[in-house]
Amino acid sequence: MSDFKHSFLSHADKAASDITGYQIMAEATALYKRRRSDTCAYYSNLELARDRALYTRSKAIANAETYLKDFELNFSKPKAKVLWALDEKDAVTTILQLLHKHDVKKIVASRSAAVNELFLKEQLPQDVTFVETAFQEFVNQVTDNEEIDLLRTPHKEMADHLSETFQSPLELGSKPMVQFVTKKMRNHFFDADAVITGANFLVSDVGGVALSENEGNICRACAFAKTHIVVAGYDKIIPSINDVETLWTLFASSGDGTLLTAYNSLIFGPRASYEDDGPENMYVIIINNGRDAVLRHKQQQKALHCIRCGACKRYCSVWNTIGEKTYQTPYTGPIGSVLTPLMKDMRSYRHLLYASTLSKKPAQHCPVKIPLHELIGYNRELFIKKKIAGNFSLWNIFMKYNAFFLGKRNIIRKVLIKRFVARTRIELVTSGL
Ligand code: SF4
Repeated sequence: MSDFKHSFLSHADKAASDITGYQIMAEATALYKRRRSDTCAYYSNLELARDRALYTRSKAIANAETYLKDFELNFSKPKAKVLWALDEKDAVTTILQLLHKHDVKKIVASRSAAVNELFLKEQLPQDVTFVETAFQEFVNQVTDNEEIDLLRTPHKEMADHLSETFQSPLELGSKPMVQFVTKKMRNHFFDADAVITGANFLVSDVGGVALSENEGNICRACAFAKTHIVVAGYDKIIPSINDVETLWTLFASSGDGTLLTAYNSLIFGPRASYEDDGPENMYVIIINNGRDAVLRHKQQQKALHCIRCGACKRYCSVWNTIGEKTYQTPYTGPIGSVLTPLMKDMRSYRHLLYASTLSKKPAQHCPVKIPLHELIGYNRELFIKKKIAGNFSLWNIFMKYNAFFLGKRNIIRKVLIKRFVARTRIELVTSGL
């Protein structure tokens, strides 16, 4: 059993038996679903918006090379550069060179799956301080407790951890807790030398980086730090600024059930001479890091259309039972079960192929209509074909049967229905009706 699988299973066991955590998560999910359905009612034609988004994302991935070159051309200017990284090692080396060049001693970071892919924090020189600035990550970092999960940990427990860490009493409730954490975080923005963020989209025709957030930490960090480093997968490319409106609104309604995320920025480079704040240098590091392995598969490449809204997770019963932290990977839930085994290594992450009930619900709520249950099925098929786990284990035989059955289920159902209809007709005819 791989270390990843072992760790996943033991975390899953623990999370699944945590009834309080499950109840908190169930309430949060129910609230999300109510908000989302209210927000979706604002669309005069939600299906059309989803089709447009799907078209945009398919076009972007199919012509990624052209759009990425245009992005580089349009973004590059004095003190604004696009850099390319093949894998995480390449990306980390580039970042370390930039930190050295700009004499960076303190970095503030915003939550980003692309940055998490790099395991950057663990590879920084000892004299460089790295501070997370998204609420959840900041709490995990200062309390040195990765288990704290905003969606599952009771407020009282979280407040106790924070109060113990800062040796300061803390009032119970979301508002006082947010105020407390924001206050503790504030000074880090002022004296950071660099900020590292992800990107929601790289907008090709205008050379812009689109960033969406609810906490305001990215806006604050970008206002004060002298160097802004963006890390983005090449799949973040979109053709035009005209596509941003549809994608941003779908991102917000699907992600949080809101009409629009609280803070949305389009950044075209470092601070201009007439601007009061903003970085002096800006770099966009575009990473591959396994995306080509996804692109190679005719079906699974649809997963690269993902806009990382997180809606599929909310409709996944496995994710709702075991929680975000159990996965220990940058991409979780149904989309993680498609991406991670292909981007990393299928043998080590094969357990994620089975962390799904293959329900259609995540796909039905995906704003870009990614058929997640089918793609997970294709991944299972791929895994079985490669006979990664050996030919003769009982597990493989069971899964082979399982994949075969799931693939053929519709055909079997159609045949049975046809037979039933035919037999009923014969009975009706022979009975003279
Ligand atoms: S796959 Fe999931 S995270 Fe990606 S766009 Fe669809 S619903 Fe959102």
